[in-house]
Amino acid sequence: MEFQTQPPSGYRGRLAPSPTGWLHLGHARTFWIAQQRAREQGGILILRVEDLDRDRCKPAYEAGLIEDLRWFGFRWQEGPDCGGPAGPYCQSQRMGLYRAVLTRLHEGGFIYPCACSRQDVLRALQAPHAGEDEPIYPGTCRARAGGHPPPAAAETQGPTRRCNWRFRVPDGEVIAFVDQNRGPQRFVAGKDFGDFVVWRHDGVPAYQLAVVVDDAAMGVTEVVRGEDLLKSTARQLLLYRALGWPAPRFYHCPLMTDAAGVRLAKRHDALSLRALRAAGHSPAGLRRAWDGG
Ligand code: GLU
Repeated sequence: MEFQTQPPSGYRGRLAPSPTGWLHLGHARTFWIAQQRAREQGGILILRVEDLDRDRCKPAYEAGLIEDLRWFGFRWQEGPDCGGPAGPYCQSQRMGLYRAVLTRLHEGGFIYPCACSRQDVLRALQAPHAGEDEPIYPGTCRARAGGHPPPAAAETQGPTRRCNWRFRVPDGEVIAFVDQNRGPQRFVAGKDFGDFVVWRHDGVPAYQLAVVVDDAAMGVTEVVRGEDLLKSTARQLLLYRALGWPAPRFYHCPLMTDAAGVRLAKRHDALSLRALRAAGHSPAGLRRAWDGG
């Protein structure tokens, strides 16, 4: 099915960092494109802090990211520091919304509980896809799904060992959309990605669910993100459809690599905005460098 993504009317874009490490130059470049696109359209830019993973998020990183973004030249009109009509702007404060949507997905028959651990999934796969973000689920618990009770309150609240909840993808269906940067995209459900987790066994909504709920609830009209998330976008389009919500447009940016061609990650501390600032670099100089001169 061809997914029509809505044309921007009253552009609303977002920066959605996770405070799991210091922001690096790769984040800054993607975010800069997001900011430029919002400015070109005379739109609103939202800062949303994606702090659901309590084991990996640190208050220091959270405080640091706002400081680093401001230093680099980012300005947003809605966010945790300045408020706005679509708040709260930290995901950890939006749990009620995610729970309500999980219940709705359950009522619609779109999800099922899965008792498999990541190890179980990897063991069941003959040839795990190299570099795959989430291994393609072999369907072990899908078969015995049916008539299961709704996600219990305890399941969505505490760090107890419960089930993951997975979204049942329509095997074989082509998920096609036009990316604003990369043009036509095409993924096959069940082949390029499998039944994906929407709620983790430790009581936390998975990225795919939280990001769709928030982009929709915050009225985001265009999502600008790294191209490592193209396949996630296809998964998210299935969630938009299941929930009957219009999908935003998508603009996927090339990822930045280091001198050895390795994709930048939070472990590249030397290229964190903090370290670059401490080393005396200016934001304008850094931007000139990525523009090639
Ligand atoms: N918090 C996510 C990240 O840091 C956001 C990804 C997205 O733009 O959807 O990668």
